[in-house]
Amino acid sequence: MRNRMAFPRDGRDWDDLSHDLQARKAEDVDWKNGRVPLYVFHNDADTLEVGRQAFMAYFSENALGRKRAFLSVASMEREVLDYGLSLMSAPPQAEGVFTSGGSESILIAMKAARDAWRAEGGETRPNIVTCITVHPAFDKAADLMDFEIRRTPSRADGRADPDAMRGHIDAATMAIVGSAPCFPHGVIDPIEDLSALALDTGTWLHVDACVGGWMAPFFTLNGRPTPSFDFRYDGVRSISADLHKFGFCPKPASTVFFRDRADADRATFVADTWPNGRFETSTLVGTRPGGAVAGAWAVLNHLGQTGYCDAARRLAEMVDAYVAGITAIDGLEMVADPDLSIINFTSRTVDMALVAEEMSARGWLVGMTRAPIGLHAMMSLFHAPVIDQYLADLTAAVDAARAQEGRNSTMKATY
Ligand SMILES: *Cc1c(COP(=O)(O)O)cnc(C)c1O
Repeated sequence: MRNRMAFPRDGRDWDDLSHDLQARKAEDVDWKNGRVPLYVFHNDADTLEVGRQAFMAYFSENALGRKRAFLSVASMEREVLDYGLSLMSAPPQAEGVFTSGGSESILIAMKAARDAWRAEGGETRPNIVTCITVHPAFDKAADLMDFEIRRTPSRADGRADPDAMRGHIDAATMAIVGSAPCFPHGVIDPIEDLSALALDTGTWLHVDACVGGWMAPFFTLNGRPTPSFDFRYDGVRSISADLHKFGFCPKPASTVFFRDRADADRATFVADTWPNGRFETSTLVGTRPGGAVAGAWAVLNHLGQTGYCDAARRLAEMVDAYVAGITAIDGLEMVADPDLSIINFTSRTVDMALVAEEMSARGWLVGMTRAPIGLHAMMSLFHAPVIDQYLADLTAAVDAARAQEGRNSTMKATY
């Protein structure tokens, strides 16, 4: 049995607490030095500081009350959503919602899709048709809203297979989904083809651009060929895009955009039943941090298009250097050529689970994929300064794995 901590009797002052926090942090993986391949995102020290200061300036304000009390939060939120709508080539009647994360953006889009499907007469238990690679937030949405999720195999290049998806679409299909990029292999699905499929079958197409939404457009602006995924394709009806990933904004912050304001309205929840009158939110959560809105607004304005293009250039150079270094190691190959900054590599000659174990022993938190068994990283600019160390350790890990051929590793892929 675990020893339960007693509720503290007397209070402690900040000095004492702050020492305690520092000591606790020492137990964490050294993420600031690039040892963690997901969860934290970084551009540079200035961007971090701008986001932090803006967040702290709105530390107490509650974005739930932005329309009545904190009008400044509402105006910043409006501007952030407008920037996003422009970035996504959204038509004039489009609208967005500021949320607390990618999962929430996806849940809201799926609720809107379900309500649209019902409005068109759908009565049975609906389903969505996706590629195997879509984020588990879609399974969460399926569980919460009781619909079925049909995952289909990806193509050899790691991208969604529109033909395979077509075979699973039926009268109960309320939406199909593509990713930009998908988390497992880091490639952008063929959104133009999925858009044609959606128009042809009369289904809602959601594009999950949680990773790429606020960054891929700047890769394109820099002249690096990156597949398009946005509202320029008529079948795209909603897009999720995380500010707190490659927008480099403070957590928790994400956006979801709808081609039509009427669909954004479907995402809105209204209750008019209790003693305090009408209650309306577009988010799943009620109270949410004003700091997240201020932080996003400040970071977007601090960087501007020039700053994001510069970040995109540095990210792309770093990813290219990692890919070149990894593929130069005998036996390693990419699962797919990354479209953005997620890398996934495997081997036909070395047991990648053993490589993962060896990397772990060298102090790297290892991301893995199961099929094929490979190593995985969602890289940000924390990883730029440690590339030589990473590649040296990876070379040694591959050698060590070869020397132990046949031994079973206990390393498993977990997010
Ligand atoms: C991170 C991620 C999400 C979910 O975002 P959270 O902010 O963690 O809820 C959705 N889709 C993809 C592709 C992601 O990488």
